[in-house]
Amino acid sequence: MIHRPLRQSRGRLATIFAIILCLMSAVMGSYVYSACQKASADYTKLVSDIILAQQATPQLRTALEEASHQPSNEPIEYIDYFVSVSKQHLNNIQTTIERHRYLTSDVQYLTHHFIELDSRLSILNQQALEAQQRPELIEPLLRDAIEISGSQAWFYNQLLEEIHAISLQQRLVMQRLSIAVSVLLVLMVSAAITLCLAVIHLHRQRNLMYQLMLTDELTGLYNRRHLVEVAFAALTQAQRDKAPLSLLLLDLDHFKQINDKYGHPSGDEVLRQVSIKLRQLSRPSDTLARIGGEEFCLLMPSTSTHDALQVADRLRREIEANKLSDLDQHDNPTISIGVTTGNGGTLTFEQLYSFADKALYQAKALGRNRVESLLPPLTASSENTDKAYMQSLIS
Ligand code: GH3
Ligand code: MG
Ligand code: MG
Repeated sequence: MIHRPLRQSRGRLATIFAIILCLMSAVMGSYVYSACQKASADYTKLVSDIILAQQATPQLRTALEEASHQPSNEPIEYIDYFVSVSKQHLNNIQTTIERHRYLTSDVQYLTHHFIELDSRLSILNQQALEAQQRPELIEPLLRDAIEISGSQAWFYNQLLEEIHAISLQQRLVMQRLSIAVSVLLVLMVSAAITLCLAVIHLHRQRNLMYQLMLTDELTGLYNRRHLVEVAFAALTQAQRDKAPLSLLLLDLDHFKQINDKYGHPSGDEVLRQVSIKLRQLSRPSDTLARIGGEEFCLLMPSTSTHDALQVADRLRREIEANKLSDLDQHDNPTISIGVTTGNGGTLTFEQLYSFADKALYQAKALGRNRVESLLPPLTASSENTDKAYMQSLIS
């Protein structure tokens, strides 16, 4: 049985932990996701495209130098070729950059160079066409071509430097990513451990509380509350099995005198030692409880009056013989016992208790340190139950 306040507090604690864990996971998760995107970007193709594009510039220069020694239309062809190759490279690089979402924003500031280079290449192409008709334009055409190729070389260098910086950043992101994943892991493990510890702690507290609720602090025996619970179940069982149920009430004789002579703490010790002895002597199937100051009760399911009387007398003799070191021999405690038996669960616990109490009173009245019994009057149904039980024992 779990008590409601404990169950609620455990549930509340688990919910708080779950919410904290979810929040932490969400924050860390989104960071890890965006970091993964950045870190996983592959710039190899872009770099090889740029290197290829860079090669166009020295190729053009060498070709133009060679052509300058033998005047002909060859320079115009080289420039034509240079323009078309450069435009193609430019296009490739632009497309690759657009594919990298994070890179696009990083090289945003270079965008206008793309446009400018592209339009300058188009103009150069136009100039080359015109120079085919008018040879005097070849000279300025070569100058422009060399200048554009220089700008192109500068632009691609800038781009490479930028990508290099981004790659360094990427490495940094990777490092942070591994730290973030480790932290996430540590957080999750520690949250799980804390949760487990909290549940274990609550579980222990609940058991302790439950135990305190059912047991007597001084002797460790069950208390009246538990006895009543067990008696209810035992009576139901006795009714189902048509079996007898015996009840013993035990009371220490002249216990007040022990307290008066040896003091209350010694009296407590006597109660503890008598409890230990009674527990050792009672059967595991019986329920022993401390129901008052120096009063005990033994509930004995499926036990006839005859057997209960035998048990009671054995308890009485054993307690009498059990010498307690703290007390003078003649002060050794004795007990008086009242016995009763209900048949087939026909009586309530209170009724049984009342019969046993009267029997105990009788034992006290007749001189103490003795066992007396008082049985409820036999009703027709209890008589039948008795017979049925005896027959079941014989068979
Ligand atoms: P009787 O034979 O008639 O039972 O006499 P008695 O002295 O045992 O009974 P009485 O009811 O007159 O006194 C019971 C005493 O038990 C009085 C009370 O101080 C003592 N007592 C009750 N509870 C405790 C306890 O927890 N510790 C100690 N040391 N004494 C207790
Ligand atoms: Mg007493
Ligand atoms: Mg008493």
